[in-house]
This record gives sequence, structure tokens and C-alpha cells, in this order.
Amino acid sequence: MPIKLVDLNAQYRSIRKEIDAAIASVISDSAFIGGKYAAAFEEQFASYVGAPHCIGCGNGTDALEIALAALGIGPGDEVLVPAHTWISTAEAVTTAGATPVFVDTDPETYTMDARLLEDKITHRTKAIIPVHLYGLPADMDAIQGVARGHNLRVIEDCAQAHGAKYMGRTVGTLGDAAAFSFYPGKNLGAYGDAGCIVTGDEAVAKKARMIANHGRLGKHDHALEGRNSRLDGLQAAILSAKLPHLPAWTAARQRHAATYRELLADSGLRLPSVPAFATHVYHLFVVQVSHRASIQAELQKQGIETGIHYPVALPFLQAYRRMGHTKADFPAAAAYTGRILSLPMYPEMTEEMISTVCGSLQAAIELETVAVPS
Ligand SMILES: *Cc1c(COP(=O)(O)O)cnc(C)c1O
Repeated sequence: MPIKLVDLNAQYRSIRKEIDAAIASVISDSAFIGGKYAAAFEEQFASYVGAPHCIGCGNGTDALEIALAALGIGPGDEVLVPAHTWISTAEAVTTAGATPVFVDTDPETYTMDARLLEDKITHRTKAIIPVHLYGLPADMDAIQGVARGHNLRVIEDCAQAHGAKYMGRTVGTLGDAAAFSFYPGKNLGAYGDAGCIVTGDEAVAKKARMIANHGRLGKHDHALEGRNSRLDGLQAAILSAKLPHLPAWTAARQRHAATYRELLADSGLRLPSVPAFATHVYHLFVVQVSHRASIQAELQKQGIETGIHYPVALPFLQAYRRMGHTKADFPAAAAYTGRILSLPMYPEMTEEMISTVCGSLQAAIELETVAVPS
């Protein structure tokens, strides 16, 4: 039985009627950009997160950039970001005109290591962007403590963590603003690009909404130069149809993670840690293996797809070569990125599929330890 890393079609099959009806109504209403479907989803998502304001936009990367701009962060400013994350987190800082400064990650949780923040702060530092990577909240109290001490803004990157909780509080409500992505493969995914900014600050919300829509105040009345990054009606209606299912999908991911843990308990693999403060929503289920390339190839032979999120920490990418970093600058991320492996994870998986993955993974590990003694 071939098993995909993520199977978007399985989800569509389970809610096809609702999705098809949502798409049909947007088209008959010609509510393509913004409009009532976008407004309705913003309200529903704000209420899901428990945040006073939600502003839909084009994608999660834009959401980060618009949040930074709305908080007044730009040229001359430095923003602390984790060394190990998807490139958007750092890229948005650069496109907002500021400079990303990388901070190593905690090898237990894969999130920003709050103990290393103080050392990276200069008189130019204006903000911190913690990423709730793989669906696990970063240690927000520790990060907020540093931020308060230096009067820094905190923007949560929630692209992988819809509905995750930190000490019972939903991510997206813990900082000055937060960015969500609804990229199709995310825990709540559109059928194209989409994203949003959430915030509890009304002035930031107003500014973000203006920036995302050409600095518009009203028709032909522009307060500033913004950009075009709007949530389209089709994506909004699809997201509204999916949102009521998200709690059940999250619970399914959590059940699958528990099954993985049970079946891999004696495997010797490092399984995801979940600190007591966190509720993990398992956007990804990431383990650490030695001989990763051959294990991945062996699984692929059995039709089991795996992934690597991400093989190279950002400071070591060509895009950031200008900063001249070496592995010694980010020892934790540099070490574990060679061993991380993402196992298949999506709500519609069955127990049987998980047990197939675990069986093949154990067999592949045994093959490796026999073939290549280490
Ligand atoms: C997906 C993702 C983003 C960007 O979202 P897009 O909608 O693809 O622009 C930002 N940060 C992280 C951590 C992500 O995983």
C-alpha cells in the first residue's frame, strides 16, 4: 500500500459536497476578491483563535511581512528569527526592509532557543519572530520575558500551528501579532495560496488591513502605499467550509502521533518531545535517524513517502551566504538537520497505515545497522 507524506485528495473526498457548494456560491455571487466570504472567514477564524482581529491576505509570507510593517518595523531594524525554519520567516524580515538575525534552535523542541536571545540583541533589535515549528508552540513565556526586558515586539509565526496551545492559550494570541498560512498542505489549507494576520491591537489591525489593500481607506482614498495581498473569495469560502472540521482533524493528528509513539517506543529513534507547557498539533511528525538517506530510500522502495523539513538551516543557504555564518554559529541546528525525517502525517491516515510505516521503518533501520555498523 503506497503511503503519501500528505494526501490532500483524501481530505477533499471526505468533504467534497461542502467544498463544491462553497465554490459554486462564490462564483454565482461573483465575490472574488475580499467581499462577504472573506469577511465571514476572518470573523470565524478570529473566533477560532480567540483573537479580536483577523485580516485575510494573500499567503503566510505576506502575513509576516505585513505584520512587521504594521508594527512599524523596517529599514535599519533587526529582527530575531530561528535558524531552523521555513525560509519565509527570515525572508519576510528582509522584504519588510529590516535585517533577520538568526538564533539557534533547541535540539529537543526544534523551536527558537530562548536562552540564546539576549546575546543577539543590539540597539537595532526591534522584534522577535518565534516559529511554532511542526505544530509545537515555542517557549513563549521565556521569549516574552526577553522581549519585555528590551521593549521588543513579538510576532508569532503560526503557519504550522493552527490551534496549538501554550499553557492552554491558543497560539496567535500570545504576541503583538501573528501570521498564519493556509497553504494547501498546512493544518488548515486552502486550494491555493492564502494567509492571515491576527492581532489583539486595533491600531495594528487597521494598519495591516490598509497595507494589504493598497493603503486604501475608501474608494480612491489611499492613506499610504501598501500592496496587493488580499484573501480571495474562493479560498475564503473553502476555508470556511473546512474550519468546522479542524478540531476533529487536529484530534486525528494527535491520535496518529500517539500511535507512532506507541509503535516506535523501542525503536531507539528520537521522537518529538512535548514540553509540559505545550499542546502539539503535529503539522509534521519528525523523528531523528542515522543513515537517513538509505532509510529514506528503503522506505521509498516500499512506497512510503517521507520528507525532510528542512535539510539545511537557513544561515547555511546560499541566500544568506552574505552573512558569513559557519556551523559553529548554530551548532544545534547544524547537527540535527542531518538526521531529521518527517513521517507520513495527515488526519485521514488509518491505524493500519501508521503500523505499515512503523514496520517498514524498523525493518529499514535493522537493514542499515546490519549493513553499515556504526
Ligand atoms: C508555510 C510557512 C510560511 C509561509 O506561508 P506561505 O503561505 O507559504 O507563504 C511561513 N512560515 C512557516 C514556518 C511556514 O511553514
